[in-house]
Amino acid sequence: MKYVGAHVSAEGGVQNAPVNANAIGAKAFALFTKNQRQWFSSPLTSKSISEFRANCEKFDYKPFQILPHDSYLINLGHPEKEPLEKSRTSFMDEMKRCELLGLDRLNFHPGSHLNNITIDECLKRIAESINISFDKTKGVIAVIENTAGQGTNLGHTFEQIAFIIYHVEDKSRVGVCIDTCHAYTSGYEVKTKNGFTETFKRFSEIIGMQYLKGMHLNDSKKDYGTRVDRHENIGGGFLGEEIFSLIMNDSRFDNIPLILETPEESLWEAEIKKLYSFIK
Ligand SMILES: [Zn+2]
Ligand SMILES: [Zn+2]
Repeated sequence: MKYVGAHVSAEGGVQNAPVNANAIGAKAFALFTKNQRQWFSSPLTSKSISEFRANCEKFDYKPFQILPHDSYLINLGHPEKEPLEKSRTSFMDEMKRCELLGLDRLNFHPGSHLNNITIDECLKRIAESINISFDKTKGVIAVIENTAGQGTNLGHTFEQIAFIIYHVEDKSRVGVCIDTCHAYTSGYEVKTKNGFTETFKRFSEIIGMQYLKGMHLNDSKKDYGTRVDRHENIGGGFLGEEIFSLIMNDSRFDNIPLILETPEESLWEAEIKKLYSFIK
């Protein structure tokens, strides 16, 4: 079964996210559990938590259909001590929020080396940050997202992601989210059937399909290999529609949240319908 949805607004409280998802016919959703542009937010209230859980039950969203996303400020591979500590504390808080909401995974961008440490040092730091967060939380999988490789962002190759996973102690609590736009602009030719087949053959050899815990379905405003992270609505960018049809007809992408992060929100409902219409 395919679970397609979008990264919906949680304005007014996390309890509104499942309501907003249901309103656009989503069978999955992503959300920020706190203000994504702030380091720290006030704790979730018990009212907010119980209403979130009640709304998920009402609209039939199980944890495996929900992919919370962490704050953009967090850099788990930061080269300097103080900002690294701040990132780790903030990430831990996000993991705890997920735990309180009964969610089982948290999606994050791995980190950036900022030209101050080597790629390997940065990747090891990211793994260490993940290990630390596991000590203080339980039941939540840390889901590493592939990046476009913009600036000094890491996680733009399957090898880098596999390297992080290798250094994570509890492998049952680490996963991967593949963003189609990031994959394409970082240099994976996923646009054609052959390229798509080859890319996921490599994914399964280098990382392993069992680690795939979610996907971001985005078209791209930028072309192949540009390493720029600019999403476009489905079919309106350089990727085109074929890749999305391939995903919708491939059982390897069953039973995980498939999340739109496309720029024009008013199109989400139609995009979800369109994606389901691709199923042959
Ligand atoms: Zn994404
Ligand atoms: Zn992106």
